[in-house]
Amino acid sequence: MKSRTAVLSDPLLDRMLLSPDEIADKAEELGAAITRDYDGRDLVLLTVLRGGLIFLADLCRHIDLSLTMDFMAISSYAGGGAAVRITKDLDDAIENRHVLIIEDIIDTGLTLNYLMGVLRQRRPASIEVCTLLDKDARRIAELPIAYRGFRIPDRFVVGYGLDLGGRFRNLPFVATLKDEVMG
Ligand code: 5GP
Repeated sequence: MKSRTAVLSDPLLDRMLLSPDEIADKAEELGAAITRDYDGRDLVLLTVLRGGLIFLADLCRHIDLSLTMDFMAISSYAGGGAAVRITKDLDDAIENRHVLIIEDIIDTGLTLNYLMGVLRQRRPASIEVCTLLDKDARRIAELPIAYRGFRIPDRFVVGYGLDLGGRFRNLPFVATLKDEVMG
């Protein structure tokens, strides 16, 4: 593979936290576990745009089952709080289906907790979470996480779907930012 010196030398980046190989191995491992657990079930992978898209794309190719995918987009209300506004809803009903939410990162857990409350009202057969990254030191809302890629320290990270002002989603690795960037 061509070297990624250009992006790694971006002055905002501190260091690579998870390499492309580590992420690929984890996607394979989680995909195998999901394949075992959901065998014979009507599975829908649900992803919140835009961050979770890259992980979904890699993970789904390691799930050897018949499944569908659906997408939501949300934005926070100005002024904070846990509630979020759904700016793009799912296209299909989830009633009686087994929903697996694919997330890039869970931080306080407030966003996902709110979202799961909304989705439960639609009566899925089950609803579980698969996250690549878990910043569990900052958790406020207790969430059951069925599939977890990596526990990471309380640092702001970018890459592999995660952004800073819309940038860095295309990095094939996860990197920390320099402390001075976050203030
Ligand atoms: P929550 O605190 O509700 O669990 O996380 C909400 C959202 O904040 C995540 O889905 C993600 O979009 C964003 N977020 C949390 N931590 C990070 C981080 O370290 N890097 C980036 N790029 N986004 C983050």
